[in-house]
Amino acid sequence: MERLQKIIQKAGVASRRKAEEMITNGQVTVNGQVITELGSKATFSDDIRVNGKKILREEKVYFVLYKPEGYISAVTDQFDRPTVVDLIHAKEQIFPIGRLDYDTSGLLLLTNDGDFANHMIHPRYKIEKEYYVRVKGLLRRESSIQLAKGIVYEGIQAMPAKVYNVEYDEKKESTFLNIVMTEGKNHQVKKMFASLGHEVIKLKRVRFGPVTLEGLNKGEFRLLKPHEIKTLY
Ligand code: URA
Repeated sequence: MERLQKIIQKAGVASRRKAEEMITNGQVTVNGQVITELGSKATFSDDIRVNGKKILREEKVYFVLYKPEGYISAVTDQFDRPTVVDLIHAKEQIFPIGRLDYDTSGLLLLTNDGDFANHMIHPRYKIEKEYYVRVKGLLRRESSIQLAKGIVYEGIQAMPAKVYNVEYDEKKESTFLNIVMTEGKNHQVKKMFASLGHEVIKLKRVRFGPVTLEGLNKGEFRLLKPHEIKTLY
């Protein structure tokens, strides 16, 4: 048994808040009876209707998107900027798992499975996230070592992060590198490099656990493969 508003939300009909409104407005019936009480419970095997239309359990879907710069990692944006959800015309109510900044590109997972999403971002599971980064200035060896040990940035202790493939552009005074992280706090890559005196000028996520961008161009997406879901979850 689950709360009616949760079932309506899971069916992809409306957000939980909107579902509550629908219930109190008398738009919802369970087995032919109008239910207006918010605490009411039901199961998917009940005949639940919203405005007379029977709701069905929404299939769980899992997408991998190559996010371009200039998109918000959210379902909607208060300033009406394009969101990552706009790029995938899914009939399900999908949302991004975690965030990539507006000016960051790369691999983003989207789903309508809240439990899967929570698992992906929970620090306990230490899923590797790999980024291709370009920073201003020439990164010193000691800085890479510090990152590998786990630096403290803005008073936060970061988990160890592996830096490799370091290449210098002496003319432009910048450094290209790959970094592998097992956590994903807000603006973490930018903040960690800022604490070492380097501004991040390009940031692209190239891997999330076993999932890579292979075969995708910017703005393209595909469904996760069953073996990828199995490895992640
Ligand atoms: N770290 C950042 O600073 N930005 C991102 O978009 C992802 C990781």
